[in-house]
Amino acid sequence: MVELSTLSKYSFLNASKNYVKDNGLSVEELLDDPLYERARTTGIERLDNAFNNRDAGNRSLATESDCIMELLSYPIARMIAVCIEDVYFKRRYALGEAVHAYKNLINEPTSFLFDISKEFNLDVKYSGDTNKIRIYFVDYLRNAPTRYKEWKMINRGLKNGYIQISHRDLARIIQEALRTRINEELDSKSCNKAIYKTFSSDIKRIQNIVLIHRKNIEAAPIGKLDITKLPPCMKTILASIQAGENVPHMGRFALVSFLNSLKLNSNEILKLFSSAPDFEEERTRYQIEHIAGRTSSTSYTPPGCEKMRTYGICPVDKTDDLCKKKRHPLSYYKAKWSQEKNKK
Ligand code: SF4
Repeated sequence: MVELSTLSKYSFLNASKNYVKDNGLSVEELLDDPLYERARTTGIERLDNAFNNRDAGNRSLATESDCIMELLSYPIARMIAVCIEDVYFKRRYALGEAVHAYKNLINEPTSFLFDISKEFNLDVKYSGDTNKIRIYFVDYLRNAPTRYKEWKMINRGLKNGYIQISHRDLARIIQEALRTRINEELDSKSCNKAIYKTFSSDIKRIQNIVLIHRKNIEAAPIGKLDITKLPPCMKTILASIQAGENVPHMGRFALVSFLNSLKLNSNEILKLFSSAPDFEEERTRYQIEHIAGRTSSTSYTPPGCEKMRTYGICPVDKTDDLCKKKRHPLSYYKAKWSQEKNKK
């Protein structure tokens, strides 16, 4: 039997969901009963914290009542997140919950993490020795942030299909699995009218904040770059990065080398990446400088359309006439500039 304080700290667990179910609480009670007012305000707090601080936030869990309110605030926050109806917000909320869980998980015993990994169907081997935690490579590749050097397979030992990881690595892998799960769950749900009615002023307030945030990103001048003239492939990659989606390495590589060819400096490229919910400045800067040849002897050139297609990162926008004529994303961008000049 899991303790109530644990259930409330890890409200995403099946046992936590079952606790709420077994207590027979209806959505109406959650929304209207004055007894659950604190759960409702905490739900809003989770969303604000996740968006503003990239962490759903810690609250006191000293009493039974604290724990129950915390536990109930999680489904409330999720239902409101769905009603905000904004992909970027949902991604950022999911990340905030997952980061929050990670910060707690690193302080738990490995056996606890091992139990949680089963809930996410991760094939993890652990027999009591923290120095011998292993994960099946497929689960590793699916969840590890392999865009970072130390997580790349080449830097990890593979033995009989399993990769050795640390306690902290396992917590980070669970963070990613949780983030993906929340994203999928939020995307599969539609807004409940009763939720919208109860929280309409907060929903509108948050929508407004997200809108201002987006406008600030779009209006920020990035050197000489005109985002509206980017080819569909680069627009798609950039939008996915900014929405916190898991963009494959080749997509990041294509975008950075493309921007580098347009003579954007590292800070300008970094600025474009900085609105991603999972942005980490130091690591992103390292990647950019590596691709741009500032920390290595090679400056990589951006792939052409054929290569982009091979890697599955060309959206092949048939409605876009320029794409039909051009063989390289850079020629597309330059042609857009010429078109504008000719109009003047
Ligand atoms: S055809 Fe070329 S420029 Fe157009 S979207 Fe595909 S890769 Fe990009």
